[in-house]
Amino acid sequence: MRNHRIAVIPGDGIGKEVIEAGKQVIDLLAKKSGEFTFDFEDFDWSSDRYLEKGSYIPKGGLQHLAGFDAIYFGAVGSQQVPDHVSLWDLRLAICQGYDQYANVRPARVLPGVKSRLHGSEKIDWIIIRENSEGEYSGNGGRVHQGLPEEVGTEVSVFTRKGVERIHRFAFEMAMSRQRKKLTLVTKSNAQRHGMVLWDEVFFEVAKDYPEVEIDRELVDAVTTRMVLKPETMDVIVATNLHADIISDLAAALSGSLGIAPTANLNPERKFPSMFEPIHGSAFDISGKGIANPIGSFWTAVMMLEHLGEEKAAKQLMAAIERQTDSGIQTADLGGKATTRDITESICKDIEGQ
Ligand code: ATP
Repeated sequence: MRNHRIAVIPGDGIGKEVIEAGKQVIDLLAKKSGEFTFDFEDFDWSSDRYLEKGSYIPKGGLQHLAGFDAIYFGAVGSQQVPDHVSLWDLRLAICQGYDQYANVRPARVLPGVKSRLHGSEKIDWIIIRENSEGEYSGNGGRVHQGLPEEVGTEVSVFTRKGVERIHRFAFEMAMSRQRKKLTLVTKSNAQRHGMVLWDEVFFEVAKDYPEVEIDRELVDAVTTRMVLKPETMDVIVATNLHADIISDLAAALSGSLGIAPTANLNPERKFPSMFEPIHGSAFDISGKGIANPIGSFWTAVMMLEHLGEEKAAKQLMAAIERQTDSGIQTADLGGKATTRDITESICKDIEGQ
């Protein structure tokens, strides 16, 4: 019997609701398989904890997390805590602390989901986001605070090592896909230092992957291409900020923010990787029981794949697709179903498999 130790961090808002639903679903999958089990440990790392105790992560918390096989994460963000505090003190502390430099974001229109984009059935992308440096390196500062001369800097950092490893990861991802196509997203026309290094290293790495068809697109132009010619792209590699933005666009184009999953990977497996739906804490619907849990289920599929549970991953993805195809959907997709309705429907499907 294989056992997987999972650190569960539901975090804030609807993160708590969708992660609870996800746990229920994967626990059932494990029980049904009879081949593996989950050992879940829940962590209260959240904005509530920060407001009560002054920190998101307790002393020694990160070291404790290192012993787990994976982290299943909900969302972070609260109206009572500035966004830059909650993001840096929790999510980025884990991603950067554990060198989860490859952020993988699939986007695809699931059966039965209506996208507002005409021709959206052609969307089948994997966005690879550099997750450790670039625009979110935290390099910068403020001087003369509050004075008319005040200055704030936010310096993007691109290192050859950081750029090369993410491009190599993207090429490997492209090689694993049928189309073997990779688009480089850049802004090296306006940003002539770090972004030029970003491009140059891409073309150097490309020489090791002659089978991969490559092209290059400026970040502004790629937004129009995603809308007008979605079929012309497959794997897309972009910097921390650029991929952050275009993956929200990808999620909206493929139906709803409530569907999209993501994996923050430490590909060398020196540290645990973290799996989370791409949506945030969604204050507007939090506590109402109407959040779409599909993003958290699809995220669980990525976690199962990472844990080597390929069969269970396929089973869960098939159950998700049958569920979305059934027409029973949450409000973000135009339906009336609750988080519980969708969860029960998926559980029933798994029971019947
Ligand atoms: P944060 O600051 O934590 O990122 P946010 O409110 O800025 O939160 P999201 O939480 O991603 O951003 O939500 C954006 C909108 O998308 C919300 O208004 C919400 O209604 C919708 N949304 C996001 N996730 C879901 C979901 N799982 N189910 C239904 N609607 C969702």
